[in-house]
Amino acid sequence: MRIAQHCRVSVYPLSTGRNWGYGSAMPAQDNCVIVDLGGLDRILHFDAELGVVTVEPGVTQGMLASFLDEGGHDFLVPVTGAGPSCSLLGNALERGYGVTPIADHFAAVTDIEAVLADGSLYRSALHEAGNPDLARLFKWGIGPYLNGLFTQSGFGIVTQMTILLARRPSCVKVCLFSLKEDSLLEPAVARIRRLLSTLPGTLGAINLMNRHRVLAMSIPYPEQQLGSDGLIPEKVIESLGRQYQIYPWTGFATLYGSDRMINAAKLEVRDALRGVASRVLFLSPGQARGLAKATRWLPGSRGRRLATTAATLAKSLDLVAGRPNETALPLAYWRNPTPFSAQQRNPSRDGCGLIWYAPLVPMRPVGVRSFVEMVKTVAPRHKMEPLITLTTLSDKLFDSTVPLIFNRQDKAALHDAKACYQDLLEQGSALGSYPYRLGVDAMQSYAARHPLSGALSSRLRQAVDEHDIVSPARYR
Ligand SMILES: Cc1cc2nc3c(=O)[nH]c(=O)nc-3n(C[C@H](O)[C@H](O)[C@H](O)COP(=O)(O)OP(=O)(O)OC[C@H]3O[C@@H](n4cnc5c(N)ncnc54)[C@H](O)[C@@H]3O)c2cc1C
Repeated sequence: MRIAQHCRVSVYPLSTGRNWGYGSAMPAQDNCVIVDLGGLDRILHFDAELGVVTVEPGVTQGMLASFLDEGGHDFLVPVTGAGPSCSLLGNALERGYGVTPIADHFAAVTDIEAVLADGSLYRSALHEAGNPDLARLFKWGIGPYLNGLFTQSGFGIVTQMTILLARRPSCVKVCLFSLKEDSLLEPAVARIRRLLSTLPGTLGAINLMNRHRVLAMSIPYPEQQLGSDGLIPEKVIESLGRQYQIYPWTGFATLYGSDRMINAAKLEVRDALRGVASRVLFLSPGQARGLAKATRWLPGSRGRRLATTAATLAKSLDLVAGRPNETALPLAYWRNPTPFSAQQRNPSRDGCGLIWYAPLVPMRPVGVRSFVEMVKTVAPRHKMEPLITLTTLSDKLFDSTVPLIFNRQDKAALHDAKACYQDLLEQGSALGSYPYRLGVDAMQSYAARHPLSGALSSRLRQAVDEHDIVSPARYR
């Protein structure tokens, strides 16, 4: 950093650089030296009694999973859909979300160590006061809360991070359910809200996915059935839905606790969803694996379809039980014309076209409906399929993830995807929905959109990084 400062060369730090759908390993501005920290992959400290781990930037979900397995430590890896090869630290710095009980990954971060633009070191106040143990256990430390400055910013190069891990519960079950009619979305949102406030701590995040989204995860892109506008016609979506038994909305919830707690919670869930949801089904990871085994030998195309669905389900259940895998990654390959490997997928390396639109949506039934209709109107306008997931962040707020999937080899499609993102950003914003996280292309308009907070952030940056050396143009 001292050399970079001396030569006035900007640097762009990455952990594993797999920020797929948000720019991957691309800096927000040209002419930066990429500082790839993936080789710093030590687990520096582990408190086996309390479940607290301190990692370097290159430690991935997969590495932590192996470490916990080998040591017989009963804690969950904070997994995401991005899979085992992604950095724990990089994801938490972007304030990513996952599927295990501590879904908000930055919420679990306690201590941070960083190198500033002039090469000096930042350590949290509690750590410096000679209490590294307390600094690892207590998020807020003492004095001004500075650790947060290093997230979604570029205030420094983060070299260590301490993360609290959730203890592995004795029982994990998922609840799958469907909404038979699209019109059941509003009552379902109200029931989900009630359910989350009734079962805090036991019920993890609930996902609601529209039929388009579930099909994108279940079947190959139906290239032969497109309409004259280049999109999948609604009647094809409906007929595929009938063929694969996918209703307009599919729900996926996770329960964590003891057997007795889960049995009681199952009754609450059934009660709350009665009259709204159909095909309510509870499964443990073990049962899902059994189902996958049993369907493997079914004959005919129907049998094969069932076996594929059961295998994907079993993998998804492993994911919510804190075991990272690549089961969510094929989504990124939906429009990719070249075949892809079954393992060690890397959508960026493999030429997938993907931009995530990830807005926050308040949990009000009428507002959720307006948001969904907005996406269904805007996406097709730009030749994009409206693939919608709503994930609960609390009993008050959803984070929606809308993947804009396109063929990256087609320049016109790339142009359409970027225009679609801008349109969604504008229209969503007008409805009261705004992203929790941005891709590199969206950084350009950041300052114009947030003048007051942007001005304070610039003043602070000016003080620590006068020559804009670290991550220029990132969230600013
Ligand atoms: C199918 C699919 C599913 C996905 N599911 C999820 C999901 O469930 N949840 C989710 O959050 N994301 C998801 N993603 C998005 C993304 O791939 C992950 O968030 C991924 O973890 C981010 O990449 P990374 O861990 O390699 O971080 P990096 O790419 O290494 O880091 C991200 C950014 O943080 C900054 N940064 C990183 N390290 C440092 C450092 N040491 N110091 C200073 N700044 C740093 C940089 O600006 C960098 O660009 C998904 C992507 C796909 C394709």
